[in-house]
Formats: sequence, C-alpha cells, structure tokens
Amino acid sequence: MKESHCDVLIIGAGPAGVMCANALAREGINVRVVDKRPENIPAGQADGIQPRTIEVLQSYGLADKLLAEGAHLNMMAYYNPTADGKGIERTSRAPDVNAPTTRWRHQITLNQTAIEDLFLNSMRQHGLHVERPVMPTAMSISDDEAVLNDPNSYPVQITLHRLSSAETASMTAANAHTNVVDPTPQLAGSTEAEELVHAKYVLGADGAHSWVRNQLDIKLVGEHTKHVWAVVDCVPETNFPDIRNRTAIHSNNGSCMIIPREGDLVRLYIQLADADDLASGGRLDKSQVTPERIMNVAKKSMYPYQIDFPHKPIWWTVYIISHRVATQFSVKERVFIAGDACHTHSPKAGLGMNASMNDTHNLAWKLIHVLRGWASSNLLKTYELERKKFAQDLISFDRKLADMFSGKAATADNAGGVSHDEFQALLRTEGGFTAGTGIQYQPSVITKAAPTNPTSGILIVGQRVPPQIILRVADCRPYEIQDLLKSDGKWKLLFFVGDCKDEKQAALVNAIGEYLQLPSSFLQRYTPKSASGDAVFSILSIARTPKDVADYTDVHEGLRSHWSTVYTDDIAVDGKNGGDAYETYGIAFSGGVAAVRPDGYVGYIGSLKDMLDGYLDDYFSGFMLDSH
Ligand SMILES: Cc1cc2nc3c(=O)[nH]c(=O)nc-3n(C[C@H](O)[C@H](O)[C@H](O)COP(=O)(O)OP(=O)(O)OC[C@H]3O[C@@H](n4cnc5c(N)ncnc54)[C@H](O)[C@@H]3O)c2cc1C
Repeated sequence: MKESHCDVLIIGAGPAGVMCANALAREGINVRVVDKRPENIPAGQADGIQPRTIEVLQSYGLADKLLAEGAHLNMMAYYNPTADGKGIERTSRAPDVNAPTTRWRHQITLNQTAIEDLFLNSMRQHGLHVERPVMPTAMSISDDEAVLNDPNSYPVQITLHRLSSAETASMTAANAHTNVVDPTPQLAGSTEAEELVHAKYVLGADGAHSWVRNQLDIKLVGEHTKHVWAVVDCVPETNFPDIRNRTAIHSNNGSCMIIPREGDLVRLYIQLADADDLASGGRLDKSQVTPERIMNVAKKSMYPYQIDFPHKPIWWTVYIISHRVATQFSVKERVFIAGDACHTHSPKAGLGMNASMNDTHNLAWKLIHVLRGWASSNLLKTYELERKKFAQDLISFDRKLADMFSGKAATADNAGGVSHDEFQALLRTEGGFTAGTGIQYQPSVITKAAPTNPTSGILIVGQRVPPQIILRVADCRPYEIQDLLKSDGKWKLLFFVGDCKDEKQAALVNAIGEYLQLPSSFLQRYTPKSASGDAVFSILSIARTPKDVADYTDVHEGLRSHWSTVYTDDIAVDGKNGGDAYETYGIAFSGGVAAVRPDGYVGYIGSLKDMLDGYLDDYFSGFMLDSH
C-alpha cells in the first residue's frame, strides 16, 4: 500500500473543510483535503451568509464575488393570520439584520456550490485541489505521550480509499433523489486504491453523519423534535408582495419562511403541519413526501396570495429539526471535528454554513501557529473551548426559534400561541448572535484583559474588531480598519497612541517603541530570527492627531515598520467618514493597545502603561514559544 506524510489531512470539502483548507494552503501549510463525492454538490443545502461571515470572507479577499452575485436581504417581513383565520396579512416589516455594529447590514444568499467555489478557486491558486472521490476507511491515533507531545511527529494514521467508478455510481444512484443523504458505498477494498497517510493533524469536516466523529466515538447530545419541514428552491409565479424580502409567515395552515435567492430564485421553508406521522425517533419516512405535496402546503399557507410553480423545483428536501452538539470537538488535540459534524440545528436562522465556516476559521490560525513552531499545542485546546460554547449557545437559541416558528400563531381562538411581538423580540435580542458580530469568546489563555481597561466602548476582549474608518496619516487615505486585519495568520497589534504632538504622550509612546525593540520584549522573543520582522506580529499605530498636522514620523520607529502603518482617527477629506474610532471604541485619551488574533478577534486590551509593566509579554508567554 502506498504511504505518505502530510501536516493536515481534511476529510470533507463542504464549507467547513474548504474554509480550513484554503486558510492553510494560503500560508503554505502542507495540507490535503479529500471528499467522497465525485464532484461538489450541484445544488441545494445551505445558502445564507451572515454579516460576520461576509467580514471573514472579506478578510480572505473572497467577498467581492459573493456580494456581486448573491441576493442581499435587507428587510424582513412578518405575516400572521387574518382576524377570520382564513388567510394571512402582513403585520410588519423590519431590517433583516438587527446588529448595529455590522459592516454589512444585510445577509447574502447564494447557493452553497457557489460559496464553496470561492474557496476552491482560491485553493487552486495555492496549488491545492480536492481529492475526489476519496474516503477514509480506518484511523488510529498514537497513545504514546512522547509522540503526541512531539510537534514534529505524525501520530495519526489514516487509510484512504479512492472510490472506483462502480462504487461512485452506486453512491450517486442512491443519492439521485436529493432528499437522501449520501450512504456509505460498499467498498471493493483493492490495495491499489488504498493509501496510508501519516498525518500530524486530521480534521473531520465530514458533515452531520461524520465518519471521523464516529471513529472517535464522540457522541452528539441533544434531541430530535417532531417538527417536520420541507425546503424547496424554485422560481415561483406569485402576487405575494414580499417575495423578494426574507419573510416569516405564521398561518393557521402551518408556518413558512421565504428566502429570496440569486436571480429570480426563491427558497421556501415549509412546515409540513400534517406530517407528525412522518417522524418517529428522529427518523423520517421521506418516501411519503413529494415536491407537489410541499408546494400544496405552501399554497395553503400563503392564502389569499397566489403562488404557482410553473417550473420543476431546482432542489428540494425534507428534514426533522434536531438540536444536537458533540460532546468533544477534538481528541488529543490531534484530530478535530468541525461544522455539521459537531452541531446540528434548524436552518431557519441561516447559521449552519456560517457556524461551520467559522469553526474552521477559528481553528486554522491555531494550527498554523503550532505547525510553524510559534505556539505550544495548548493553543489548540482553545478551539473546543470557544467553538463548543458557541455551538451550545447556538442550539439554545435555535430551540427557542424553532419552537416559536413551528408553533401556531396567537389568534382570538388561540390566545396561548406565539405572538408577533414575542417572535420579533427574539430575533431582535439575538440579532448580534445571529449576525455573528455579537459572538463573545470567553476568557482563556488567548482571551485576556490587562488590569487597566483603557476602553469603554465596543472594542471588547473576546469579540471581533468592529468596523471603523481611519485615515492613513502619510496620504490621508481612508481605510476600513477591518481591511487592515487580513486573515494572514499574523497578530495585529493596534497601538492607540493618542496625540503624539503632545510632549507627555510622545514620551510614553517613545518608551513603548524602545521597549518593543528590546530583545526581551515579546515582539523580539516570538519573532523567529530567520523570518521577516513582521512575520508574526504586524503593528498598526492609530493616533488621534488632526490630519492637517499629523505626521507619520510622529510615531516612534519601534511602532512603525513602514510609513503605511501609521493612521489617525479623523474625518476623511470627503467630510463623510472617519473620526469616530476612539469614541466608538471608547479608547482613553492616554491610548492603549489591543492584540488582535489572526482571526480578527480581540485577544488582549490594556493601557500603554500596562504594556510597559509587562502585561502584554505575560499574555503572549501563555501560549507562544520563545524563538531563541
Ligand atoms: C441534505 C442536506 C440539506 C440541507 N439543507 C439545508 C438548508 O436547507 N439550509 C441550511 O442552512 N442548511 C442546510 N443544510 C446544512 C448545511 O448544508 C450545512 O450546515 C453546511 O453545509 C455545513 O457544512 P459542513 O462543511 O460542516 O458539512 P457538509 O456541507 O455536509 O460537508 C461535508 C462534506 O464531507 C463529505 N463527506 C462526508 N462523509 C465523508 C467521508 N466519510 N469521507 C469523505 N468525505 C465525506 C461530504 O461529501 C461533504 O462534501 C443541509 C445539509 C444537508 C446534508
């Protein structure tokens, strides 16, 4: 049998897998990704990209196409039963995204295939392609502590099997009906088709029925509900006025969610109100459901509006809502699971693909750090810590949402039902969470505040850096701060240096600049001698000196590697943007420093004085490795 070695082997090229593969390939990591499907999905599955995920894609340079091709969901409409209970009427419209600090105040919908393609195209540019149709057949992890503790060892052995065309055909035939999840094909077991891979790390991004999770004997904890829903992608003919807005319909004939998609395409989520008998113990008898049946339910739910389906649906499926989270997201910090392999929930909040991609966005930089020898392997423990908590929060939100959405609306005959205000309030209160911009990672070795918190605004340890326009001092060009925080595997140190025209402030900033140049400072200790000066840490200085007097040379050389790294918080020459960063972030007059993790989340905030007292050194010493 052929044998090979690789640093990271990814099983599954869905959204979670390709996010990780691309992030690693961009940074030159030796990564492979395999998928059992002969090609990526032709249609269907997830389609919603939330504002935080747009920010993340932008940080990888992948958002332009998404923004150009996807549908933008700006407004959400709410429909409830009419007084006579026979039809529905609009109760209100409101912005679709309820998160004030978002850069894009809308969701985007685009088919999962096109979203995966963004990553696949980028991966190709870095010489990585998905190996298909390939699946693992056996996996083992070394028990030897010495091997596990050696960062250069390959403790995971995994056998890969390349599917023959007969095996692929049997899988494709079984999958012809899109409502059937891929079965595991019967393998012929030819040794020529087998390969033994020795991997440093393995990622199971292999979906809800994860083979990797099962091999690791990791359980999913939670429950299946009795709510049966169908989803159809179609181009309907209708007089419904909100067909191009996200719309939640509570009708006496069942609930329905309308999601406008690219072009004229529309996705309908339809509650099969009469379908309790279809579900038992989490298993669904899908053979009883046809597209015609689903569309008839949609017609009834939307009465008195007309909706017709002159064309065959592009894709459809039917599912039971289940709320489940994996008990572990990793084993020995050598094998990880991510995405649907870790959490399953209803698709109503449009979070499945978002949560999955953000799992591996969280993991990728940690793997890069450990593989490059920059950080100790304890950094990898924070993946489960952060993403499992997020998944649990997601499930508890989704339980409320799914119950309210699947429940009957409050009417004169059903006073105990779900009221419009209750439903809207839930979406409003959880707006930051669903947009992804309100995610708060808990305190840990990488998420730590210094004794003095110099911020009182929206720049918060454990949250992503909110958008703000700042001006590059040298040429007064406005920049969105998030565009300076690329997902390039590096830390960004934001030094809020205040007004360096002020002598006292300049003295403090000069002391910081000199401190950073000392061999004992974290900057020198954790930057490998062989690497360029900003290989691990990029420094951005943000002053609050007015643009007409600010000079980039005001800032000490230790805080500026180049003229382009010095910014100020002032209004741009167009008079429209900028000048709010210190106030919105709540930065003290005396400045401060924020260490922004390579995934765009604030890891540390402290005053400039705290830094001179060594708190930022302490922070990095918790997980970084001395390069000397
Ligand atoms: C049938 C179906 C319908 C869905 N409908 C919706 C919807 O309507 N709305 C919504 O928001 N979300 C929907 N989802 C969920 C959404 O697609 C996921 O939340 C999202 O894709 C999660 O990404 P992932 O990468 O974790 O998993 P997936 O997208 O499931 O990707 C897993 C990948 O792993 C591969 N794989 C699986 N097992 C193996 C193996 N043993 N070896 C090699 N490769 C393997 C698969 O071929 C697949 O490419 C649906 C999912 C499915 C499966």
